[in-house]
Amino acid sequence: MTGSPPIVGAVEAGGTKFVCAVGRGPGAAMLAREQFATGDDPAKVLGQVTAWLAAQEARHGSLAAVGVASFGPVCLDRQSPAYGRITTTPKPGWRDADIVGAMRRAFPGRPVGFDTDVNGAALGEHRWGAARGVDDFVYLTVGTGIGGGAMANGRLVHGLLHPEMGHMPVAPAAGDGFAGACAIHGRCWEGLCAGPAIAARAGMPAELVPADHPAWDAVLGAMSNALAAITCVLSPRRIVLGGSVRRAGTLGEAEFFARLRAGTQRALAGYLDTPALREPGIAEFIVPPALGDDAGVCGAMALAQDAAAGR
Ligand code: ZN
Repeated sequence: MTGSPPIVGAVEAGGTKFVCAVGRGPGAAMLAREQFATGDDPAKVLGQVTAWLAAQEARHGSLAAVGVASFGPVCLDRQSPAYGRITTTPKPGWRDADIVGAMRRAFPGRPVGFDTDVNGAALGEHRWGAARGVDDFVYLTVGTGIGGGAMANGRLVHGLLHPEMGHMPVAPAAGDGFAGACAIHGRCWEGLCAGPAIAARAGMPAELVPADHPAWDAVLGAMSNALAAITCVLSPRRIVLGGSVRRAGTLGEAEFFARLRAGTQRALAGYLDTPALREPGIAEFIVPPALGDDAGVCGAMALAQDAAAGR
């Protein structure tokens, strides 16, 4: 990309809040930022979002495009009448919500970029963050739920629908008898390791779970198995892991990552023989997001930039 990128609008559409921004990139290039509760009425929050973006446009200048990185599942098939909509979510009020349509109506003639929240965050980390210069990598978020986005050969992976890594079956840690917290699958990865699963295991919110609580052994064991599985399937050159669970309460983020790296090495058992998976390379293989909690909204900005450029 040459010259200064245009000003775009960005929306990280999350299950609990919509984070909006206007600008050219992260940090000082982000000119304004706001957030609204997702709630159970799509028309209400989409109205708040588009009104806010229009007000920023009046202040900062015309938006070249709008990008949305959305919770899902979403339809990404441009040939489908459902393109740009949330599809089968159990979230009250949100089934079939037309996200892209709302943006097109509010900003006629402007391109609208659209992808999953995690694919968006992956694109943001690729452009400005922990995956710069890495064209094959995975972005994971572990928080209220678990999601994964992937880039292969410099392109975001869509495929049949889009990756739903959080709901893959994962081997639990040895001796883990927890029944699982996913309403659909019980003991899928999200059912074993997301925030609600940790809270159910420990009987307290994940951020309060003490460092020596056995819940962490079970969670980090299954997480390590999941990262090993992803490494075997997609052969990523890096795994960027965001979301609130990585802060890991009193265990702390540094210890969480150290144990996750060691656990992933154990799960792979030396079979994938490459420096990235040994010491000290492993510390650059499993990393936190460089954009921190802005990965999602920056990703939406990157989606908008790509839409403005006709990509
Ligand atoms: Zn599940």
